[in-house]
Amino acid sequence: MSSIETVRGRVARDRTHFDVIVAGGGPAGIGAAVAAALQGAKTLLLEARPYLGGVASTALWMPMNRMVTAGRPRGGVHDLLLAKMRSYGRDACREGKRTFADGDGFDFHPDYLRIGLFELLEESGAHYRLYSPVSGADVQGEVVVGVRTCWKDTDAWFPCSVAIDATGDGDLAAAAGVEMKLGYEDAPQFMPVSLVFALCGVDVDRLETYRRESPEAFGQTIEAARRDGYATAVWYAFDRGTVPGVVSVNNGGPYGVSGLNGADPADLTLVERLGARIAVDFVSIARRYRIPGLEESSLIRVGAAASVRGTRRIVGEYEVTVDDARGGTEFSDVIARKYGVIDANQIYMGEMKSGFAYPYRAMVPRRIDGLLAAGRCGSATFLGHAAGKSMGNMMALGQAAGVAAAVSVRAGTAPRCVDVSRVQTLLREMGVDL
Ligand SMILES: Cc1cc2nc3c(=O)[nH]c(=O)nc-3n(C[C@H](O)[C@H](O)[C@H](O)COP(=O)(O)OP(=O)(O)OC[C@H]3O[C@@H](n4cnc5c(N)ncnc54)[C@H](O)[C@@H]3O)c2cc1C
Repeated sequence: MSSIETVRGRVARDRTHFDVIVAGGGPAGIGAAVAAALQGAKTLLLEARPYLGGVASTALWMPMNRMVTAGRPRGGVHDLLLAKMRSYGRDACREGKRTFADGDGFDFHPDYLRIGLFELLEESGAHYRLYSPVSGADVQGEVVVGVRTCWKDTDAWFPCSVAIDATGDGDLAAAAGVEMKLGYEDAPQFMPVSLVFALCGVDVDRLETYRRESPEAFGQTIEAARRDGYATAVWYAFDRGTVPGVVSVNNGGPYGVSGLNGADPADLTLVERLGARIAVDFVSIARRYRIPGLEESSLIRVGAAASVRGTRRIVGEYEVTVDDARGGTEFSDVIARKYGVIDANQIYMGEMKSGFAYPYRAMVPRRIDGLLAAGRCGSATFLGHAAGKSMGNMMALGQAAGVAAAVSVRAGTAPRCVDVSRVQTLLREMGVDL
């Protein structure tokens, strides 16, 4: 457990120089910050929200899939996080379900995850600061040399040697002038934005048996509820929480509304408004139509905010495509592997070569140096990103970016010019199977 002095020392103050700054504390940002700090870089993680974890914390008991691969440890930050969460006991962590779309996942209690991520950062040596939305980048001669944040009347500035954009929406890269793509190859089409919610009082075994044995029946009930005037989501999926009787209700966003941009405040407001009604109505539906296992359930609460699957992506030195995912293209600059399926929700679901290679060049913006992009804002086509977008994979991308940033700082070379074989060696030394 960290002392108050340690914690105080880890909260960053304005104008301090860092070797590596990571913008965004979701799975990718955590992977990046912990890995960079473990490699000896003086590292700062800047997070807009009052908590770390990104979607994993926002959405309540959301399983972090692909934290292991086929049951085997992934090494590096994944193993450190799993060990940390297991150390808190049975309420904090349990193994998740294994289906076509999900797998090798762990359900974490969102509040144990909160403390776990702070402690993971502290133990790695990283600094952090919440309530710090990145609002700008200092760029000199096409090189990022600092990151700006703005919260109410507090503008803060942090000079750095290398910055990593792990904001999901690519906020830092866009502010630095990197060319960006948005949505489905620039068509106004997006994966759904969803307000996830959690229920208690659930007979989870009965619910799972019902869903497995009567796959059509649940959908027919939701159709009937729609005809009866209830607000519904496009689809629902249930994940067993770490606490008895609790399930997290993942969903496909509000039924009847599509094309919402998760980076647009107006669209997000719509999801918050409609999602709140969907959560409340779901409890009424469960009780009125006697959905097996859910008859006695109650709403615990909705997630902290709407959760976003994809928005802006950088235009990088390489763009990962759906053909790379399906065919399993190998790259000499592989720095991570993505496992799972292609999951673009209603737009496309399909198989890919699980464990396909992710090249370092997909993190490097084509223009602008001193910057890497990790996680869902990396360089990919819409479906290239949707291929293996689970949190464990995003953490692997962040981890690789963090190691590369530390190598870049140590060698005094721009991220674009790092010795990728050195990055690969260090990742292997951390136990990563490339
Ligand atoms: C509804 C939903 C359900 C999902 N279900 C699953 C699932 O069951 N299992 C699974 O493994 N994956 C699931 N996913 C996919 C997975 O959650 C994402 O692919 C993953 O979280 C992306 O990681 P990331 O770190 O790139 O982005 P995010 O998790 O989005 O994290 C981005 C972080 O950056 C912060 N940020 C944003 N802007 C700024 C800024 N300007 N300055 C500072 N910080 C900023 C955010 O607050 C956040 O903490 C789901 C996604 C959604 C939306």
